[in-house]
Amino acid sequence: MSAAPQEPVRCRAFRTDGQPCTAPAVRGGLCIGHQPGAAAAHVKGGKATSSANRALKLLPSRLQPIVDTLEKVFYEVYEGNRSLKSATAMATVALAIGKLVLAGELEMRVRAIEAQMRLETGRPDRWPA
Ligand SMILES: [Zn+2]
Repeated sequence: MSAAPQEPVRCRAFRTDGQPCTAPAVRGGLCIGHQPGAAAAHVKGGKATSSANRALKLLPSRLQPIVDTLEKVFYEVYEGNRSLKSATAMATVALAIGKLVLAGELEMRVRAIEAQMRLETGRPDRWPA
């Protein structure tokens, strides 16, 4: 006599809506999502992929330390450890640096597009011709 096909062991935890979790248990009677530390890992993953963090990664690398410094300055002002005048001067200089870096990057990209246009059209002129 053969044994009936074995039902997979189900997770013994409950979902946030109060219903029993139906996912297959992988360890300790719990599914992957209910393992100890799963919630913390989920939050950490969310932070790593948040749109704010993604946007910061797109900044030119030269601007990243300036953003980090401005963030420290923000908290220094908030805690009363830096004068508003000093913070304003730093923010003004940082904005000027940011504008120059972005202008340089834009110029570089336009030159690359123009070079590609010359290759494709054979025209030596700048676009638009
Ligand atoms: Zn579960």
